[in-house]
Amino acid sequence: MSNSLNRPLAAAESQSIAFNRLHLTGREMRYIAEARVAQHLSGDGVFTKRCHAWLEENVGCAKALLTHSCTAALEMSAILLDIAPGDEIIMPSYTFTSTANAFVLRGGVPVFVDIREDTLNLDERLIEAAITPRTRAIVVVHYAGVGCEMDAILDIARRHGLKVVEDAAQGATARYKGRPLGSIGDLGTLSFHETKNLISGEGGALLINDPGLSERAEIIREKGTDRSRFFRGEVDKYTWQDIGSSYLPSDLLAAFLLAQLEDAESITAERLRIWSLYHDMLEPLEHAGQLRRPVVPAACEHNAHLYYVLLPEAADRPGALARFRENGVNAIFHYVPLHESPAGQRFCRVHGDLRVTTETAERLIRLPLWYGINAAAQERVVALLGAVQR
Ligand SMILES: *Cc1c(COP(=O)(O)O)cnc(C)c1O
Repeated sequence: MSNSLNRPLAAAESQSIAFNRLHLTGREMRYIAEARVAQHLSGDGVFTKRCHAWLEENVGCAKALLTHSCTAALEMSAILLDIAPGDEIIMPSYTFTSTANAFVLRGGVPVFVDIREDTLNLDERLIEAAITPRTRAIVVVHYAGVGCEMDAILDIARRHGLKVVEDAAQGATARYKGRPLGSIGDLGTLSFHETKNLISGEGGALLINDPGLSERAEIIREKGTDRSRFFRGEVDKYTWQDIGSSYLPSDLLAAFLLAQLEDAESITAERLRIWSLYHDMLEPLEHAGQLRRPVVPAACEHNAHLYYVLLPEAADRPGALARFRENGVNAIFHYVPLHESPAGQRFCRVHGDLRVTTETAERLIRLPLWYGINAAAQERVVALLGAVQR
């Protein structure tokens, strides 16, 4: 503090750099006001319908249904696939709790297999050995918006009669071999949580690619009733048809979300620009053996959801995180693998050893990445990584 007057750069240097900052397009509040004027604040109003149309057109799914979170869309998936007690679902342990929890709520048993060293996605080469007579589905997670090896995974699923759910929470606008993430498996789920690329605070969507599941999905989302059919005039009253819950968001949130969806292309482009700048700036550090940068296979167009680095060893991370903290930079680690968590140990099963999962989780750091972060801030982040003493 005392010598700050002598150092013109000190003020700028000491400004903290947030991990995430929200980007608004400027139309969110106007659309919310329009929803209020329309006198329809509950679910499935005009803005929800516009979001559905946008998703169906841009993702290319048979049907899109907004939910109040990706978690809700995953729960709907487990109900739609009739997951019953003891059914096994193959998935990575390196993911958010909801991927597993949604199936555990139905009595399902997540079976964890290891991830690939390059993309940190489910290792498709390990899936087949984990299949048992109880296996019902494969749930893939497109980590950092980089697509899993979907051709191989769909082929395994077809040969063994398994369903495929894509947890595309991080994957909005990203593609695998030209196909949008979430449009490839039987079902896909998106998140619009404020930490994702396109946001509505809380929010999500279920993407239905198997048209045979559409009608039941509507019923599950509307408290187990055929209310959606009633509003379309297809039945003259609506009644309780099946199990379900209230999974639809208020039209106010859909109004907010529509503004974001309309700018999806420019938001993704700006994030990709920032991501690429990190990638270029960090190349010398990778060559010097100080870290490993993300790998994006040629088949994948990612969406710059996050920028991570892998330090050479787990022992390197506490020092690096402390240095970021001391310099006001909010860089953070990511998942505690689910198989190491108390609930994971209680409800799930591990297939094979999860060496890559465990090692990755201990070596990974996510860097600040948000619409509007400037190059000077990115340089500061990179300089702190470059200062690693090994
Ligand atoms: C964010 C996230 C979720 C949860 O999304 P919500 O919309 O907050 O429920 C689920 N899975 C993955 C992989 C995520 O990154």
